[in-house]
Amino acid sequence: MIENLIGGQRVASKSGKSQSVYNPATGEAIDEVGLSSVDEVAAAVESAAAAFPAWAATPPLKRASIMFRFNELIIQHADDIAREISREHGKTHDDALGEVQRGREVVEFVCGIPQMLKGEFSRNVGPQIDSYSDRQALGVCVGITPFNFPAMVPLWMYPVAIACGNTYVLKPSERDPSAALMVADLLNQAGLPPGVLNVVHGDKTAVDALLDHPKVQAVSFVGSTPIAEYVYNRGNQNGKRVQALGGAKNHMVIMPDADMDQAVDALMGAGFGSAGERCMAISVAVPVGEETADRLVAALRPKVEALKVGPADDPDAEMGPVITADAKQRITTLIDGGVEAGAELVVDGRHMSLQGYENGYFLGGSLFDKVTTDMEIYKQEIFGPVLAVVRASDYNEAVTMINDHEYGNGTAIFTRDGDAARSFADSIQVGMVGVNVPIPVPVAYHSFGGWKRSIFGDHSIYGPEGVHFYTRLKTVTTRWPTGIKEGAVFDFPT
Ligand code: NAD
Repeated sequence: MIENLIGGQRVASKSGKSQSVYNPATGEAIDEVGLSSVDEVAAAVESAAAAFPAWAATPPLKRASIMFRFNELIIQHADDIAREISREHGKTHDDALGEVQRGREVVEFVCGIPQMLKGEFSRNVGPQIDSYSDRQALGVCVGITPFNFPAMVPLWMYPVAIACGNTYVLKPSERDPSAALMVADLLNQAGLPPGVLNVVHGDKTAVDALLDHPKVQAVSFVGSTPIAEYVYNRGNQNGKRVQALGGAKNHMVIMPDADMDQAVDALMGAGFGSAGERCMAISVAVPVGEETADRLVAALRPKVEALKVGPADDPDAEMGPVITADAKQRITTLIDGGVEAGAELVVDGRHMSLQGYENGYFLGGSLFDKVTTDMEIYKQEIFGPVLAVVRASDYNEAVTMINDHEYGNGTAIFTRDGDAARSFADSIQVGMVGVNVPIPVPVAYHSFGGWKRSIFGDHSIYGPEGVHFYTRLKTVTTRWPTGIKEGAVFDFPT
C-alpha cells in the first residue's frame, strides 16, 4: 500500500478506501494507494501548521542550504525516480529523465531564494521616518497535481513555497502517486524539519478537505480545466489564494517559408512524445496555404506510420502507452467521432497491439487531415497521440483560429519571416509562445502559465511569479522617539 507522509513519518491510510495503481504497459495492478479521509487530510494540515512558525523564522539562507542538498540528491537518484515514473505512467525512460531534470531546475532556482526575498528600503519618507517592505510567507500551502508529470509538476510548486518559508501538503495524482512520494522523501533526507512537507494521497474527498480546511492559506492546482475551475471557485469561496492551471489545445502554425524538415520533426516530438499526454503537446498543426498543407501531410504520414511504440524499458521506443484503459477508450471514441464528422484519417493508430503487451494501453500515432473548427476532435483536448491538421488559407485565418479557441496554454509558429514571427508573438492570445520552438516551456527562472481557460487565477507557476504567489507584501513605516515631536495631528499624514 502506498503510504502518506505526515509529520516526517510514512503512515498507511486507515480510511478503508483504496484504489489500484496500474502498469499501463501491461495493464497489471502493481500497487494499491490509500484514499485519505477528511481526518487524515486534517492531520497533514495540522502537521504543516505546527511546523510553520519555526520554519518561517528559519533564515532564508538556511532554507536554501537544504534546497542545495535536495538538488544534489535528485541528481543522484534521477534514474530511480525516472524508473518509478515510467512504471506507473508508462512514458519512456529518457522522457522521464527529462521530466526529472525540468522539475529539479526549479529546486536550483530556489537555491537563490535569499536574494529573491530581499525587500525595499526608503530612508526619510517623512521627517526621520523610514519605510521598508518585504514579502512574507503565507502559512500552510497546498498542491494538487495531475498524472502526466508525476514528479515535475509537484516540483513546480512545493520547492518554491517551502523556500519562501511556507509549509506544505501535496496531494499527487492517485493514478501514479509513487514518484512524488520518492522525491518528497529526498527533501526530508536533505534535512527538512518534519511536518514542513506532507504528502496525502486521495481523490475528490481529499481535495475537498484541503479546499475547505480553514488553516490552508493557498492552493496550487494543475490538471484538467473543469476541475481547475472547480478548485479555483471552491478555494476562493473559502477565502484562499488559488492558482489553477487547466487543459490545453496547442496549435503550431507552419508558414509557407518554414523549414519543412524542421517543422515536421518538431511536430513529431511535440505531438507524439509522451503519447501526447503533455499540457504543452502540439495537437493541432495549422499549415498556411494548400501547397504548404499538402507538403506537410505528405512528410508527416510516413513518420507517423513509423512511430516506435513500446514499453519504457525498450530503448528504441519513442512513445509509451496512455495512462489507463479508460483513457485509451476515450481517445479511440474521439477518433471514431472525427471520422464520422468527415475529417480524413490519414494514419489510424486505433488498432495497434504489441506482442507480449496485449493488455497494455497502447495506441499508435493517429494523423487527421482536413479537420474543421466545428469538430469535437478540434474543440476538445484529446490528451493522446493524435495530431489534427487544420488548413488555413492565410496567416490571419490561422491567428484568428487560435485566438478563438477556448484554451490558450502554448502555441508556436514556424517561419523564416521575422515580421510574421513578431506579429504572431504580439497578437496571439496565448500565454507561452514559441518561434521555431514547438514546446516553449519556460525555464525555471521564468514562469509557466497559459491564458484563457488554461488558467484560473492571477499568477503563473514557479519562477518569480511563484515567489509572488507564495508570499505577501508587508510594508513597515518607522519613527523613533527622538524624532520630531509635532503633537497630535488630525489631518491625513503627508
Ligand atoms: P485531473 O483534473 O483529472 O486531475 C488532477 C487532480 O485533480 C488530481 O490530483 C485528481 O485527484 C484531482 N481531481 C480529479 N477529479 C476531481 C474532482 N472531481 N474533484 C476534486 N479533485 C479532483 O487531471 P489529470 O487527468 O490527472 O491530468 C491531465 C490534465 O492536466 C490535462 O487536462 C492537462 O492539460 C492538464 N495539465 C495542465 C498543465 C498546465 O500546466 N496547464 C500541466 C499538466 C497537465
